[in-house]
Amino acid sequence: MSTNALPQSVLPAPAARREADARRATAARERLREAPDDTDALFELADAHARMGRHDDARSAHRALLRADGRYADLRAPVEKQCATSFIGQFDSVDCPVCGDHHANMVWVGNISGQVRTWGHLDPVREWVECTSCETLRVQAPPSEAALQRWHRARSHEHSPTSAPNLREFDAAMAERNHELDVLEQVGFGIAWLDDPDAHEPRLLEVGCGWGSLIAAARWRGISAAGVGTNAQTAWARATLDLPCVAADLDHGIRPEHLPDGSFDIIVLRSPLDRAEAPLAVLQAAARRLSPDGVLVLQLELHDHPVRRVQGYDAPGWSRPERRVFFGRDTLEVALARTHLRSERIQEVRDASSGTSLLFVRHDDLHDLMGAE
Ligand SMILES: [Zn+2]
Repeated sequence: MSTNALPQSVLPAPAARREADARRATAARERLREAPDDTDALFELADAHARMGRHDDARSAHRALLRADGRYADLRAPVEKQCATSFIGQFDSVDCPVCGDHHANMVWVGNISGQVRTWGHLDPVREWVECTSCETLRVQAPPSEAALQRWHRARSHEHSPTSAPNLREFDAAMAERNHELDVLEQVGFGIAWLDDPDAHEPRLLEVGCGWGSLIAAARWRGISAAGVGTNAQTAWARATLDLPCVAADLDHGIRPEHLPDGSFDIIVLRSPLDRAEAPLAVLQAAARRLSPDGVLVLQLELHDHPVRRVQGYDAPGWSRPERRVFFGRDTLEVALARTHLRSERIQEVRDASSGTSLLFVRHDDLHDLMGAE
């Protein structure tokens, strides 16, 4: 019998991984008996403990590491020159942004320098908890807005300014967005207007519109479409394609006021929901603007996606400093239900990082009916 399964070496076997982590922890402890401030050994111990689910031990080792060398996160990163800046920002514990409960259990602790350059602007110890009431995974003490801004400023020095797409890239992006519009037509947004010659054009709003490929593709189909995105990208979309795109600061998460007033048959929110300080308020703002038969599309990384599950704690979503919530399908549904919404369909995003999903969401009419009784 033939099989298409991946070779064994590609997918990590959990038992082998656990044994390797246990060996790493033992070796690190032996080194620390010789030299208690050995930063590499402290990092190995913290990382191995985190992967073994020993979160309190991992946190102790991370803190010991930072006491031994406060700039360890930066020192591990392959940098050309160091920034001389203050170290840790202000961190305050927050309640669950979905249900408001403050009780939680730790589910992961790690060092964000494994994924991002910190430049000493953020606490490199990242702690995730699971809400005991609604099970949403969240960062217990997210960095302050000031700390995140310092981090973004430092990061922008590392990266050259994003350059506008060439025609071929833009065409490829439009093809992907056309595929999304096909799906939207299949699931049926605004069916009411289809048979009515006097009905308005369908209206689309996209937050996180990038260079405007969906806006361009939608307008080509006769959909009245507008976008909200970063300053450089929306300026290019306006100047080059005359697209109605406005700029907003989405780096620190989407806020309700980023959604312009109006009624829309399609609202697309790309990614920033899990960076939002108040994701429910954003969903409520979207629900208020969504026409009765409209579709809300959420582009999100979900931690229970098969690719993310294979990655485990190596999934980049755990370590991104601006990420506050890591939804799975179940916990996202809890958040949607609280805003009288429900998901109807899920699919992959083909041109985003693997493990990213598109969720098609509608008003929960049943909930409204039950609520009215
Ligand atoms: Zn909760």
